Parts: sequence; C-alpha cells; structure tokens
Amino acid sequence: MRGIMYDLIIIGSGPAGLSAAVYGKRAGLELLVIEQSNMSGGQVLNTYEVDNYLGMQGMNGFDMGMQFRAHADKLGVSFIEETVSKIESGEKVLAVVTENNRFETKTVIIATGAAHAKLGAAGEEELSGMGVSYCATCDGAFFKNRTVAVIGGGDVAVEDAVFLARTCKKVYLVHRRDELRAANILQEKLKELPNVEILWNHIVTKIEGKDQVEGMKLQNTKDQTETTKEIDGVFIAVGIRPNTINIEGMPERDENGYIKAGEDGKTSVKGIFAAGDVRTKRLRQIITAVADGANAVTSVQEYLLESQ
Ligand code: NAP
Repeated sequence: MRGIMYDLIIIGSGPAGLSAAVYGKRAGLELLVIEQSNMSGGQVLNTYEVDNYLGMQGMNGFDMGMQFRAHADKLGVSFIEETVSKIESGEKVLAVVTENNRFETKTVIIATGAAHAKLGAAGEEELSGMGVSYCATCDGAFFKNRTVAVIGGGDVAVEDAVFLARTCKKVYLVHRRDELRAANILQEKLKELPNVEILWNHIVTKIEGKDQVEGMKLQNTKDQTETTKEIDGVFIAVGIRPNTINIEGMPERDENGYIKAGEDGKTSVKGIFAAGDVRTKRLRQIITAVADGANAVTSVQEYLLESQ
C-alpha cells in the first residue's frame, strides 16, 4: 500500500467513519479507512436496541453496525486494521503513521469516537472483568438470575438497567442525583420494571469482592450515611471520553479532550477534519455521527478543490 497518495484517510470505522467512507467513495475519492478493531461499527456494536435511528426502530445495534459496514464494502472501500500513532502535517501532504506503515494523504478525517469513562471507585480496576463491566449487552448474560448494579443516570445507564432487568433477579440503579438525565421514554420503560430499584442520591465508594464482585459500599450524597449492598456484578455507565490520538500539529481540543470542530468538521489544522463523537458537539448519537461523516466529506471535497 506504500506509494499511494490518498485523497482521504479516515481514522475510525464507527458510524461517522463508515458514513464518511460511503460519501467519499461515492464522490470518487481515493480513500482508505484505518480501523483499530477487527470489527467495524464502534460503540453501536454494543447497543442491544437502537430505537431512535430514523426508519430503523428497534434495530439491534450489532446488526446495524454490520449493515453500515456492508454498505461501505459494496462500494469497494478499502480497510486496514492498524493503530494510528500520529499524524504528521506538512504543507499540502499529511502522513498518517501506524506501527507498520506511513500513509500519505491530502486530507484526514478523524472519526475515532469515544469510549467508556471509569468511575474511579476503589476496587473498580482490580475487579474489572471479574464482575465489573462497562458493557451490559456484552456481559449481561453472565448475570442471569443474579443481582447487579448499574451506575449512572444517562441514556446508557437506563438502557443497561432495562436490558439487565429482563434476565437478572434484581437491578439497582445507583445515581448521584435525584433526577435522571436519560430520555423520558427510557425512564418510563424503567419505571415499569418491578425488579429495578433506583438508589437516588448515592455514590459508590467501593466495589468489594475477592476474586469476583460481592458487594458495593454506597454513600448517600445528602446525609453522607454509608450502606452496603450485596451484588454479583456492576455495570458502569458514567459517560464517555473521546478516543483521541497523538497528533503532531495537533488539532485543538476542548477542556474534555474533544477535538474542536463545527458541523463542517474543520479543525484547527488544515486538511484535518473531525467527525462523530470525537468532536465538540451537542448531541452524540448514531444519527448525528452519520451526518457528521457526510458533512466532513463535503468539507474535504471543498478543501481538495481549493488546494489544487
Ligand atoms: P451521559 O449522558 O454523560 O451520562 C452519564 C451519567 O453518569 C450521568 O447521569 C452522570 O450523572 C453520571 N456520572 C458521571 N460521572 C459520574 C461519577 N463519577 N459518579 C457517578 N455518576 C457519574 O453518558 P451516557 O449515558 O454514557 O451517554 C453518552 C452519550 O451517548 C449521550 O450523549 C447520550 O445521549 C448518548 N446515547 C444516546 C442513546 C439513545 O438515544 N438511545 C443511547 C446511548 C447513548 P449526572 O446526571 O449527575 O451528571
């Protein structure tokens, strides 16, 4: 693959990256998608049910990811599985450097998405994979007829609690405030479930267990009282952090690490664009990631015309 001068290299193969690939290929660009994982789709692969993507109500997230990839494959998009270590920015040529290769390109779209945030509670790291999980759809089946806790109050936490309540004996939803930030429709689903107990105004101070999660220590944020609950598993859903890479001539980021870019995907570095969850934006959803991919390619095309 050495020697090719690409018009566009897309880093990441979640909904934003795959959408950019489809739009880029249809625009006749010489492009390559570099993906870190052996499976395209990004976070959507771990979503049990996607209910808010227009026209695909109730679709399984894994199937959706597969369909997105199949669309790119049908158009003949080239993929390579490597980890990008840096992007070098030159006058008109950029280089995307991986452990084995150095790819030259005129433009780059960074679509590396975001990943689960850590809770930071004692015992979390030690018991990770031993009852502490960040993916209910991946690990939920291990807790059939058991008692689990979900930590967080956003869409992911409530979706996870609803999902787990189908098979678990009991689900505690631990939230640090007295109001959930999850969409109302999800909250309504949650409230209908008799085996879900919401522990309002509580934080987890410790996850306990020897070789496996056995319990959690909680603190009431109102009166500071401490309690312990016996549980078999903990699902942590306290938000996401951007997956950014080490970039020379780095595009500017905001205080949370998201790449500063508007709807057009333009970053502070010429020729480098950002799309999807990795960029500063209001709403991080599949549908907005897909739109970002399309918009970023439009900006790439404009940039290529201008810099001819
Ligand atoms: P989120 O919306 O940022 O929610 C994170 C939750 O974790 C909040 O309730 C927050 O509490 C809590 N939290 C954060 N740090 C904590 C800590 N240290 N200790 C205890 N609790 C903590 O994140 P998310 O639910 O992972 O969702 C991420 C993005 O994906 C969002 O934009 C979401 O809308 C989107 N998403 C959408 C859908 C859908 O529409 N179907 C599905 C999944 C994800 P506070 O509320 O007190 O801040």
